[in-house]
Formats: sequence, C-alpha cells, structure tokens
Amino acid sequence: MKTIGLIGGMSWESTVLYYQTLNRTVQRRLGGSHSCQCLLYSFDFEEIARLQHEGRWDVLAMRMVDAAKRLEAGGADLLLICANTMHKVADEVHRSVGIPLVHIVDAAAERIQERSLSTLGLLATRYAMEEGFLRDRYRERFGIETLIPDEAERADIHRIIYEELVRGITTEASKRRFIEIIARLVERGAQGIIAGCTEIEILIQQADIAVELFATAKLHAEKAVELALATDDDSPTRQGTPWIK
Ligand code: GLU
Repeated sequence: MKTIGLIGGMSWESTVLYYQTLNRTVQRRLGGSHSCQCLLYSFDFEEIARLQHEGRWDVLAMRMVDAAKRLEAGGADLLLICANTMHKVADEVHRSVGIPLVHIVDAAAERIQERSLSTLGLLATRYAMEEGFLRDRYRERFGIETLIPDEAERADIHRIIYEELVRGITTEASKRRFIEIIARLVERGAQGIIAGCTEIEILIQQADIAVELFATAKLHAEKAVELALATDDDSPTRQGTPWIK
C-alpha cells in the first residue's frame, strides 16, 4: 500500500470525511483490520479563509507548496489537496514535488463519465463557481459542462459554506436553501449535481435530491485508495490517464 499525503484542515470538518472514507475504503478492499496508510498536514483554516478573502493566492500557493513538500519528505507517495477551492493553486503544488497529485476534478469527472452525463450543476465557493480553475478542467479534459447558480444563490452558498459548514454548523434552513437551488439547476438542464466544495456533502445527501449527487470529497478519497493499492503495472498514472504526473 502506498502512503497517501493529505493537505487538509480546509476545513477539518471535511478532512474528517476524507479520513473516514480512506480507512473504510481500504478496509472494504483488503478486509481484516486493514486501514489506510496516510500522513496529514492540517491547516488552521482561519488563516486560509482570511488569505482567500483578501485574494492573496500567492501566499496560499506558498502555504500549499510548503505542506506538499513536508508530506513528500515525510514519505507520502501521492498527494491530495482536500478541498476544491485550493485546487486554484494545484499547478504550483504539482510542480513543486516529485510525487503524483490526484486532482479532485479528475476523480469526480471519472464517475460522471461512467454515468454518461455531460451537463452538471456545480455548487462550490464563489471562487470555484465564478472562476475557471475547476470548470475549465471539467470542460477541456472531460467534455463536462457546468451550470452555476445565479448571483443571489451563489452569495447564499458562499455564506453558508464559510459561516456555517466549515464551523460544523448544519441547519434545516440552509439545507432547504441548497435543495431549492439544486431544483432550479435541474430545471435549467443539470443532469446531476457536483458538490464541488468538500463540506457540502455533510449538509446534502443523495436521498435529499432527485438527480445524482457527485460528492467530491468521497470520490477524491476513493480514487486515492484505488491508486494507493494499484500495482505499478495497473496504476492509471502508468496508463497515461489524466492524473497530474
Ligand atoms: N472545502 C471547501 C472546498 O472544497 C471550501 C473551503 C476552502 O475554501 O478551502 O472548496
């Protein structure tokens, strides 16, 4: 089993989901008392959120690169950035280390393609909904178009993520608002919904909505296990599929 390096704490509420999914998936695959061999670098999210809100992505890139190098030096064989938003600096992280970085979009897109879907609603932070760093990758590498909510809906999603979900707060009112926003995306043609922020799957589960929910934290963690357990011969990296490195 390869060692998975997690750049987490963004927020720790979703890093818990990663840790749980990694361990449960390894146990399911290998049986017995097996669990995931991994390393975690966990940030203080207050600082990360402040830098994001100030637009200091250069400093954030340095923080992510520093964490990636520490994990590599500690023995990680592959890396995960445990958040969608910080994939804004995924290229910098990828260039700074010699081990593969498993991109969150690739993990989700693989499952979406298995379902033969091509138009998906994207719920995420304002950065990820309004900028191209996730949406362009879905479109250019996988032919998946993403629909985003309107301005007022985006503001609500962003607020609920930063004021509630990353602080471990889930309310019925916020859940209702998400379900309403999802219904409008489905009316506009979304064939499924990408929970493109790793805390959303804490609030919204598959049973809450009529179309398929693509839970990025879970799919990302499951993909990492698949790679960690793959032999060198069957690793997707070797087969030339679009994993970074
Ligand atoms: N975990 C979230 C994401 O997947 C949001 C928190 C952050 O800004 O990193 O985008």
